Amino acid sequence: MNDSVKYLLPENRIPRHWYNIVADLPQAPAPVLHPGTQQPVSGADLSPLFVDALIEQEVTTEREVEIPEPVREVYRQWRPAPLYRARRLEKALGTSAKIFYKYEGVSPSGSHKPNTAVPQAFYNKEAGINKLTTETGAGQWGSSLAFAASLYGLDVDVYMVKVSYNQKPYRRALMETYGARCVPSPSMETAAGRAILAADPQSRGSLGIAISEAVELAAQRDDTKYALGSVLNHVMLHQTVIGLEAMEQMVMADADPDVVIGCAGGGSNFAGLAFPYIGRNLREGKNTRIVAAEPAACPTLTRGTFAYDFGDTAHLTPLTKMHTLGNSFMPPGFHAGGLRYHGMSPLVSHAKELGLLEAVALPQTRCFEAAVQFARAEGIVPAPESSHAVRAAIDEALDAKAKGEERTILFCLSGHGHFDMQAYTDYFAGNLNDITYDENLLQQALAELPKVSG
Ligand SMILES: *Cc1c(COP(=O)(O)O)cnc(C)c1O
Repeated sequence: MNDSVKYLLPENRIPRHWYNIVADLPQAPAPVLHPGTQQPVSGADLSPLFVDALIEQEVTTEREVEIPEPVREVYRQWRPAPLYRARRLEKALGTSAKIFYKYEGVSPSGSHKPNTAVPQAFYNKEAGINKLTTETGAGQWGSSLAFAASLYGLDVDVYMVKVSYNQKPYRRALMETYGARCVPSPSMETAAGRAILAADPQSRGSLGIAISEAVELAAQRDDTKYALGSVLNHVMLHQTVIGLEAMEQMVMADADPDVVIGCAGGGSNFAGLAFPYIGRNLREGKNTRIVAAEPAACPTLTRGTFAYDFGDTAHLTPLTKMHTLGNSFMPPGFHAGGLRYHGMSPLVSHAKELGLLEAVALPQTRCFEAAVQFARAEGIVPAPESSHAVRAAIDEALDAKAKGEERTILFCLSGHGHFDMQAYTDYFAGNLNDITYDENLLQQALAELPKVSG
């Protein structure tokens, strides 16, 4: 039997708790600092941007955080998400490895992002908030938050990186279908946007700039909060439903991964799958390898510095210690827009420093090559972001083959690429190249990192 095999959990097995890796880490992560005083932030410092329930989740050290029943009700629409064994891909590769993937493209917006968008919208509604502001790169987060907000009657303003706004009109249409307002960033609506445009009227935008715009507006109004789709601890927490389900499904498959892989932009789908496995490594002394796959054009984990930095370009956010390319770094335009961020989740960064995970940087043409091979074997067209995980998984399978080893590989297929077919068109036309970032600009951005004492 060479066909795909699907492992489905019954609905009542949607996790009841999210998993918090902080409880199992041998060393606590560095505190978040106030940009003015450089002292650890208090809950009150964060409350202009986030409601209390999310601030509590940002700092909790409890291992398990209960998932509210109404959130589980919404999850039920697409969760538990399926886990597949990629038998046809294994055959196409002629590998002795077993390849499993957890598929998050079954959500309404087509990616893992609603796993956190729904609880974020839920907690904001509960706290009496009327409106959310946010940024989006490729549009996956904006459309996921727009979907979640539509469930609770919240307004959403999405600041979309201008280069993606122009490249991905259908993502914008999707956000508008759910009722959100979508603004190309940098915009004239904020002081941050106006300052960028004054310096560079042709600015293509970046996630760092779009975050500045969304944060600036949320901070000005009591009934408005900000929502972030990755990077923060509470986002990593919400995404652990991926790994908690996958662990049960791997037991159903009577297999245990030797290596767990996710693509990493801000780190959330990667952490979602990997953190429960890292926790198991720490608690049970297991040695499951954990691999983050990032784009060579924006290599935060492999080339960034582990240092305090701002999350945004206009320096409105608190300082977090993370792998960063520098908040002024402007990644080149490439197709995996969701991976074009200067920073990385502080928890993922901290785990990397502790030696709990590895990272690889992959050029986009090799990722598209892997994505096409995957689509032709498995029938699912990966999002350009997810193609990095597909590449890393195929490389593991080929390595196992070359060494004549058995290896069980589990990766997160974080989303489908149905809104990204222009990228595939460009790939087939031979118009994609392996753009790399400018080393001088990187060094310049790193030299501009904020000076933090101690
Ligand atoms: C946004 C996105 C990513 C990158 O974000 P992470 O927080 O690193 O997961 C990856 N894959 C897809 C499909 C996305 O939409």
